[in-house]
Amino acid sequence: MCGMCLPNCPTYQLYQSETESPRGRIALIQAINQQQIKADATALLHIDHCLSCLNCETICPSKVPYGKIIDDFRNQFNSSIKKSYLSRAILKQSTKPNGLETLFHIANKPVIKQILRLGPSSLKTTALQTTQNRAEIKAFYAGSYSAAENRRGEVTLFTGCIGKSSDHDTIKDAVVILNSLGFDVNIPPQQYCCGALHQHNGQQQQASQLLKENQLQLEKLKSDFILFFSPACGENLQQLENLAVLDVRSFILSELQQQHLSFKKPDQPVALHESCSHRNRLKLKTLNYDLINCVPDVHILDSNNPSLCCGASGIQSIDYPEQSQALLQAKLTSFDFTQTNILISDNIGCSLHMKSSISGYNPNIEIIHPVSFLARQLNIKNQPDTEVTHKCDT
Ligand code: SF4
Ligand code: SF4
Repeated sequence: MCGMCLPNCPTYQLYQSETESPRGRIALIQAINQQQIKADATALLHIDHCLSCLNCETICPSKVPYGKIIDDFRNQFNSSIKKSYLSRAILKQSTKPNGLETLFHIANKPVIKQILRLGPSSLKTTALQTTQNRAEIKAFYAGSYSAAENRRGEVTLFTGCIGKSSDHDTIKDAVVILNSLGFDVNIPPQQYCCGALHQHNGQQQQASQLLKENQLQLEKLKSDFILFFSPACGENLQQLENLAVLDVRSFILSELQQQHLSFKKPDQPVALHESCSHRNRLKLKTLNYDLINCVPDVHILDSNNPSLCCGASGIQSIDYPEQSQALLQAKLTSFDFTQTNILISDNIGCSLHMKSSISGYNPNIEIIHPVSFLARQLNIKNQPDTEVTHKCDT
């Protein structure tokens, strides 16, 4: 009850109300469980505004397991917490292999897009964004990609429920880097969601089911490592047994510390956004910096409020669009985009959310994954060298 978590909670910063703080939510949950108050719509709304960013858990001196408390509460009251039709559809579709790809494809048909635009603001969110050409996707995921020389092993890419439809550029760029490092890359075309979305949205049974499904599918493969892209997937996937599951960034960094790859100097600084799941769930504090610094003479521009959640938080941007937008504007304002046209973001959920508004801050900016930044700076063999760096020894 010390209140140290309050100033670090994005919803408390936004509403300046105890009921929108970690301490207030814990008190509400306790009062509901002890039947001192009813789980009415108002109480549930205050609790469900929580972004599960875990800034509170990270700072708490008493190690209160806030993440488990909120996950368990949402699971217990799942049927009473009001959710939009769209977020329910996303949760349902993401339990099927490639389910979100189908949903996004339908939602992006011009006539459906038009209807969605006329609907409530929650249906106009970026959660439905897909920029990819279905034919290109189909062709890309039908293949496997072999290293040209100095083969060191094989990796499988875990693209999860959203990667193929919304983060294809990052996946393609990872293939380039991994092949250059001597790894054959295997990408199973039919993939399941990691279950994180369900775990944090009151569907723990579905989350366990998805974990079992992933265990079954991934253990059939003979790859040396399974690499995931989204830090949000990492916490769940690292529960898989007898499989070497790693963040693609960690894997590439550890290889770059052992091998020589050559990168060009960038022609501008880069801004860096780190997701809450990276900061507070994976807790790989220096990873993004170490990886980006493998490129020579790179200058990283930080947010002046790095721990502030961008407001995406899975499907929160659909269910609470005003809250989500307010946090997004605060987050984007925390960067100086006058110095760069590149924002590096480690999580596709944040990237899609930020894309919805970033042109108001810099119309020329691109949002890319750290691995895509490396791929852009990579000196491909036989290209005239501009600048060369050797083994990354950060
Ligand atoms: S998880 Fe984030 S939004 Fe939720 S109570 Fe903690 S700090 Fe606040
Ligand atoms: S959750 Fe931790 S930091 Fe927040 S009020 Fe309770 S003890 Fe203090």
